[in-house]
Amino acid sequence: MIVMKFGGTSVGSAERYRSVAQLVGSYQEKQPLVVVSAMSGTTDWLLSTARAMAEGGRNSADGLTAERMMADFHARYQKVVDETITTPEIRSRTFSEVASLLHHLLRLLTGIEMLGELSPRSLDAVAAFGEKLSSKVAAAALQDAGYRAEAVSAEELIVTDSAFNRALPLMAQTAEKCRARLLPLLEAGIIPVITGFIGATQEGITTTLGRGGSDYSASIIGAALDSGEIWIWTDVNGVMSADPRLVPTARSLKRISYAEAGELSHFGAKVIHPMTVMPAVEKNIPLYIKNTFEPAFPGTRIDRSDQGAEGLVKAIASTRGLALLTVAGSSILAVPGIAARVFARVSEKNVNVYMISHASSGHDLCFVVEKQAAQPLVQSLHREFELEVARKEIESIIADTEVTIIAVVGAGMRGTPGVSGRIFSTLGQKSINVIAIAQGSSELNVSLIVAATDERAAVQAIHDEFLSFTGLGRSMRHRVAEIGAK
Ligand code: ADP
Ligand code: ASP
Ligand code: MG
Repeated sequence: MIVMKFGGTSVGSAERYRSVAQLVGSYQEKQPLVVVSAMSGTTDWLLSTARAMAEGGRNSADGLTAERMMADFHARYQKVVDETITTPEIRSRTFSEVASLLHHLLRLLTGIEMLGELSPRSLDAVAAFGEKLSSKVAAAALQDAGYRAEAVSAEELIVTDSAFNRALPLMAQTAEKCRARLLPLLEAGIIPVITGFIGATQEGITTTLGRGGSDYSASIIGAALDSGEIWIWTDVNGVMSADPRLVPTARSLKRISYAEAGELSHFGAKVIHPMTVMPAVEKNIPLYIKNTFEPAFPGTRIDRSDQGAEGLVKAIASTRGLALLTVAGSSILAVPGIAARVFARVSEKNVNVYMISHASSGHDLCFVVEKQAAQPLVQSLHREFELEVARKEIESIIADTEVTIIAVVGAGMRGTPGVSGRIFSTLGQKSINVIAIAQGSSELNVSLIVAATDERAAVQAIHDEFLSFTGLGRSMRHRVAEIGAK
C-alpha cells in the first residue's frame, strides 16, 4: 500500500490530470491511495473571493457579486472536465458533480456577502472546495483511463480539533475512520482519491490543516493505515539543496533524515508542509518526494537515517515575511522575570515565535515573529513594561519589519566546529550584514537573520560556499591537500 499525494501544479490542467491518472494506474499493483490538492491557484482564489465578499461584495467599488465571481470559476472547471474526460457517461456525471459542488459554494459565498462577515470556520468551509473539486476530477480521470476509482472527502476520514485554519488531527479516531472507509475500497480493487488539506471536527464541521496541508494529509492517512511508503509528487526533483527558484544551481538530495526534513520545512522549504514528517516518524514510514514532470527520477527519500558524516551542510532554507522584535535595555535579562513576561504577552496573542536570540551580555532580547503580528505585539509589550521603560531599565521595544531567517541545515554540522565562522565570513565577503544568529541544541541547523533585501544574495553565497560544485571542489581540494600532507 502506498499513499501518493499530488500537489497543485501536478493537477494544474486537464493534461496534468490525465498524466496523474496514467502515473497512478502504472502503480496499480502497489495498491495506491491518492491524495490530491486543489488545482494550482484555486485555494488562493477561494480565500481571496471569500474575503472580498465579506468586505463588501456587491456594495464594493467594482460591485463584485458572488454570482459574477463564480461565473468564470465555473467556466474554468467546465473546461477542465471537458478536456480531461472523454467517456460521455463519466463526463456528464462529473459535470453534474462539479455543478453541485459549485452551487453549494455559491450559496456559501452569498451568505458571507449578505452577512459581511467571515469567521475562520466559514473560511475553511470555502477553502475546502478546491480539494473537493479536484478529487472528483482526478477520480473521473482515473475511471476514464480504465481504472476503478472513487472520490472520498477527508471530512469522512481525518478527525481534527476545532482550530480552524490550522487544525490538528486526532490520530486514534482518524485511524479508525480511515481503516473502516478505505480498506474495503482497496480490497475491492478501487483506488480511493482523497481530498488533501481538509478534515472535520468530531461534530462533522469542515476544517483545514493550514496552507500547503495536503502533504500533511498524505502523511496522516499513511500513518493511519500503516502504509509501506508515502510519496509526495510535486513539481521539482525532490528536496533540493536550496529553493531552485532562489538558487538555480540547487541539487536534489538523495536521502535526508526526518529531522533534517523537519528543520528545512519549518524554516521555509515549501516542498513539504512542516508537519508532514510527524505522523511518518511515529510509524517509521519512509517519505519520497518525487517530480510528476520527471517520474523516472528517483527523488528524495526521507527516513530515520542519520547519515551525519555525509556532507557538512545539506541544504539551505529561508522564510520571508518576518519581523524581528528587540527588547533592549541595560542587563534586562538580569532582571528576573522579564523574558517570562515578554513571552507571556506573545503567547497571549497566539503568535508563533520562529527564533529567539539574545546577546550574552544580557542586553538585548530578540525574537522573530510573522510580520503582521509585530506592531500589535510591540504595543502590547509597551503596555506591559510601562514602568520599566519609565525607569529606563528597558530602553526600547522595536520591530524591524523586513527580515528573513536563513537556516543552514545538515546533520553533519553536529560537533563540527567552524561552520558558523565560515557562514559569517562568506556573508562578510559579500558585505551582507548578519543581524542575529541562533543554533538549535540539536546542532542540525544554524539559523541567521538578514535584511529581507539580502535574502537571495545570502542564500546564494552560502550555497556557493558549501554546496555548489565549486564549493564541493574546494572541499575536495582541501581533502586532497590533507591526504597529500600525510
Ligand atoms: P505542491 O503544489 O506540489 O505542493 P509546492 O509549491 O507547495 O508544491 O512546493 C514545491 C516548491 O517548493 C518548488 O517548486 C520550489 O520552488 C519550492 N521549494 C522551496 N525550497 C525547496 C527545496 N529545498 N527543495 C525543493 N523545492 C523547494
Ligand atoms: N490547496 C491547499 C493550499 O493551496 C493545500 C495544498 O496545496 O497542499 O494551501
Ligand atoms: Mg505544497
